[in-house]
Amino acid sequence: MAISDSLKSVKSRIAAACVAAGRPPDAVQLLVVSKTFPGSAVREAFAAGARAFGENYVQEGLAKVGELIDLRGQLEWHLIGPLQSNKTRPVAEQFDWVHSVDRLKIAERLSEQRPPELPPLNICLQVNISAEASKSGLLPGEVAPLAAQVATLPRLRLRGLMAIPEPGPGALAQHRAMAALFEALKAEGLALDTLSLGMSADLEDAVAAGSTLVRVGTAIFGAR
Ligand SMILES: *Cc1c(COP(=O)(O)O)cnc(C)c1O
Repeated sequence: MAISDSLKSVKSRIAAACVAAGRPPDAVQLLVVSKTFPGSAVREAFAAGARAFGENYVQEGLAKVGELIDLRGQLEWHLIGPLQSNKTRPVAEQFDWVHSVDRLKIAERLSEQRPPELPPLNICLQVNISAEASKSGLLPGEVAPLAAQVATLPRLRLRGLMAIPEPGPGALAQHRAMAALFEALKAEGLALDTLSLGMSADLEDAVAAGSTLVRVGTAIFGAR
């Protein structure tokens, strides 16, 4: 399928899931996950109307930002994969969003290294909602204290939470637990607007639970 067609069908899935959940059809933003696909695929998705792209690996992401520098003012780059402290500087300089912050040290470095001429870097805290030992992210009980600290850093804008629920029978409960955590932080007074939840296989569950941004790769570009 052409990228423009698969993009259209993913957008219809999102809109249908919104309607099924009684939410406005435009309540959920699409982040196109371009990891492992070439810059030419990003260009094709851009031509078909996509404006926000997600990358997992810092080096690969930076290479694509450079390759598509002619479009720089017209699209957003989101880092959705793990970030080591020795790679924060180019990320602070080149990306618009980081979804995978789970330590104060990383957030502090990103804030210090964000260039003053750019708007604040948008941040989501990653939550290990399935509590799998192999996964990165904060345990639910660790989220509120880190959120309060990150919210005070001058060159960051804390936007919300991100998670990768474990597929299977318990998935919907994990999506709902993420939405509850997100609502609890807002109730404590944090001005959050982004629940980054849902991928190709589980975007319907995510939208039903309250996701505001789904990260979709396979359903747009094909298998990696
Ligand atoms: C790869 C990836 C995605 C996209 O997953 P698909 O199943 O290809 O849609 C979303 N989020 C993260 C964090 C990823 O690493």
